[in-house]
Amino acid sequence: MTIPASDPGELAARRDSALRDYEALRARSLSLDLTRGKPSARQLDLADRMLSLPGGHTAADGTDCRNYGGLQGLPELREIFSGPLQVPAGQLIAAGNSSLALMHDSIVHALLDRVPGAERRWVDEPRIAFLCPVPGYDRHFALCERFGIEMISVPMTADGPDMDVVERLVREDAQIKGIWCIPKYSNPSGVSYSDETVRRLAAMPAAAPDFRIFWDNAYAVHHLTDTPVEIADVLALCAGNGHPDRAFVFGSTSKVTFSGGGVAFFGSSEANVAWMLKNTAKRTIGPDKLNHLRHVEFFGDADGVLAHMRRHAELLRPRFDLVETVLTKELGGTGLASWTTPAGGYFVTLDVLPGCAREIVRRAGEAGIALTPAGATHPYGDDPRDSTIRIAPTYPDLAELELAITGLTVCVRLVATEKLLE
Ligand code: PLP
Repeated sequence: MTIPASDPGELAARRDSALRDYEALRARSLSLDLTRGKPSARQLDLADRMLSLPGGHTAADGTDCRNYGGLQGLPELREIFSGPLQVPAGQLIAAGNSSLALMHDSIVHALLDRVPGAERRWVDEPRIAFLCPVPGYDRHFALCERFGIEMISVPMTADGPDMDVVERLVREDAQIKGIWCIPKYSNPSGVSYSDETVRRLAAMPAAAPDFRIFWDNAYAVHHLTDTPVEIADVLALCAGNGHPDRAFVFGSTSKVTFSGGGVAFFGSSEANVAWMLKNTAKRTIGPDKLNHLRHVEFFGDADGVLAHMRRHAELLRPRFDLVETVLTKELGGTGLASWTTPAGGYFVTLDVLPGCAREIVRRAGEAGIALTPAGATHPYGDDPRDSTIRIAPTYPDLAELELAITGLTVCVRLVATEKLLE
């Protein structure tokens, strides 16, 4: 970020100009929404052929998908997603429609049943803490709050979480049982973990024998460019460094096929998968294998997934390009904000001057532009610098998006110049 103008006269003139723009914005009585990290209807249309699938009901091994059973999910679907999720098909579970539900269940099972390597159930621990790279995903933080798990923030770098901090905390505190990781096109920063970060996560000594990496690879195939980011294979690295049970891998097709009707996956070591299946067997007699079969018929193979994601990218790239263009035009060189230019995923992070994010979100709301609450990207809803704003450009159409981002930049200019004049 360049240094904002320090001349009070010039600043006041900029504030006055921003105020006039803001009043004009309010007068338009807009009703726009930048909060929704969900696919647009046009993206969902890409998978409409699925509505008439499956054509039959018999799996490759003769299983009648209409019936109970098959707890681990259809093998042919696990084969297709084995590559994209970097999990051997035999160590992958294809489950229901939500990976968040699998993360929830993993925590509940760990609370009530010793995970492999644990001395006791997490519920019997005096205290449990998770490391939370920030900015991060609010629903991860909500899960921690739900189960009384203390959250310890760790700063994100351009390569993933600050590993010096992570290594020190995990080595020193045996009550740290987990870390949330969104390793590719992170929500909301768009950061992808470097190979070295993944290696250090896999290799670092942990005081807790039952320390787990919650590897939420939600955006594994959600590329926006023609040069997809590849990340290191966390399960292989954990195994190679003597910590075979360290990582729980999650993923889903929520933003590939249908957000409400996709398939979610859990992958891990053989011991962890056996533990998960043993616990899952108590809550279901089997997953929706017809939906698994529907996905198999729709994709055919892993290349089919990638081809489908290229069609998503064609719809999404213009939206992300538009955000970049408007932010550059309105805020570039002002020193009032910086932002990410993600190569995949669903979000742009806008970083504003410290102490301004909440007020910008409030002013935008008053002008009819709904933004994710400031602070949502941090544990306990508290961004200590009050500077992170998450932008979700996927859902609105291009015209609405342009209006909303332009309006947001007006709020940034107004609040930031007011702040500098304080
Ligand atoms: N994980 C991350 C990082 C997400 O951004 C989202 C949705 O926005 C989810 C998980 C939710 O996944 P699912 O629909 O599979 O429950």
